[in-house]
Amino acid sequence: MQFTAAFHEMRSKEIARLTAYVTPSLEGLMTLTPAPLRTQIALMMERLGHTPHSDLGASELVTTKDGRKFVTQCAAPANPAPIGLRELRRLHEAVMRHNAEGGFFISLHGFTRDTEEFERRMPSIRLVDGEQLMDSMRRSMKGMTMPPTYKTVCQQCGVIVEHRTHKGEAVPCRSGHMVGPSIDPTTLIRRKFPLSSQPVQTAKPEIRPLTRREIRAHNHNVRARMIRQARRHAAQAPFDQGN
Ligand SMILES: [Zn+2]
Repeated sequence: MQFTAAFHEMRSKEIARLTAYVTPSLEGLMTLTPAPLRTQIALMMERLGHTPHSDLGASELVTTKDGRKFVTQCAAPANPAPIGLRELRRLHEAVMRHNAEGGFFISLHGFTRDTEEFERRMPSIRLVDGEQLMDSMRRSMKGMTMPPTYKTVCQQCGVIVEHRTHKGEAVPCRSGHMVGPSIDPTTLIRRKFPLSSQPVQTAKPEIRPLTRREIRAHNHNVRARMIRQARRHAAQAPFDQGN
């Protein structure tokens, strides 16, 4: 079994390659640490026509699209607190510092209610919540289909065989060893996120009745989301500026 290491190395490489074709889920994104999440966002923006000018995982992503410059910042995915004015102002400062035209703030856990006024008065700063990010993710993945084959190393002789991605069949290697499929595409789709090496531990919420204040806050959030959605239909989708 001297080819076990080669088998595993090839397998993780192929899982990473195939997973690039799987649209991540919002829950999956929430399990990421900040840098891998920012990398996912940078890759998405690239697919939407932006050219990155900073490291993909950088805390301030600078991109250009059709000669227009943007700065993107992203809230820590594990922090359940919505983003407020302070963070948006910090993004605005970064936009000025980079002499950019606008910015995107991505918060998987949404924004506080006092940011609505900011959003109205500062349309160059786009607030992107989890659902809007997922819309853009899906849009960016359109037309990308899973590769039909992937490679597996025969653990008996080290020869590479090719498996069909959607047929879970064993394939003989050149020496006639039967090599079973090394990747199950259904786990690939359900898999949380292979890029996150350390999933964030989230505390289980305790179950208790909601206070009146929480219900009011919830109702407010639903209303705010509806307003944002209506505005989203009227305005351009985020990250599409420059078209
Ligand atoms: Zn073999």
